[in-house]
Amino acid sequence: MHAILGSPRNRVQGFLAAGHVNAVMGYWEYPPIAAQYRVPIVVTGFEPLDILQGILQTVQQLEQGRYEVGNAYARAVTFEGNKPAQAVIKQVLQECDRKWRGIGTIPNSGWCLRPEFDAFNAENRFDVAAIQPEEPSICIAGLILQGLQKPNECPAFGKTCTPEHPLGATMVSGEGACAAYYRYRRDLIMESNE
Ligand code: SF4
Repeated sequence: MHAILGSPRNRVQGFLAAGHVNAVMGYWEYPPIAAQYRVPIVVTGFEPLDILQGILQTVQQLEQGRYEVGNAYARAVTFEGNKPAQAVIKQVLQECDRKWRGIGTIPNSGWCLRPEFDAFNAENRFDVAAIQPEEPSICIAGLILQGLQKPNECPAFGKTCTPEHPLGATMVSGEGACAAYYRYRRDLIMESNE
């Protein structure tokens, strides 16, 4: 969130926070972010009505000039989150730098196994450390994730990239922006072919 909102190219005006993440982590980390960047953040579930409620709460805040943290997924998410699960995560994992699609490496943005669990670390046990997953150069998933372009503006959308043959992560899973556009805005494929 800091990387996106702090970018000089940022166009994101609000966040639907991923409810499955917040079910574990809570949303106690969000209020300073909402205040610093003056953006609403609404914890949102995955059912269609959950999404609509999250969008509604976000738009209402934007229309009223508010930038608060809301919870549209209260049946699964609390402010504190799942404390026992957070304790286990902290016990097994530690923060480390991670490379993010279209953004690059963000310090302390990922989880790595703590040294005491090195025996279970695949990067130590197998020769995988040098593997660098590369996305096809045509894929603009990083720009889409930052709100700078829309899926139908990708030249591969619905042509060489489909849910059956995805080129990038945002086409793979159902909640990915490209997969959602493919499912619900198939008409835009025709438009992008013109
Ligand atoms: S349509 Fe496919 S290739 Fe284009 S941005 Fe989305 S995932 Fe990447």
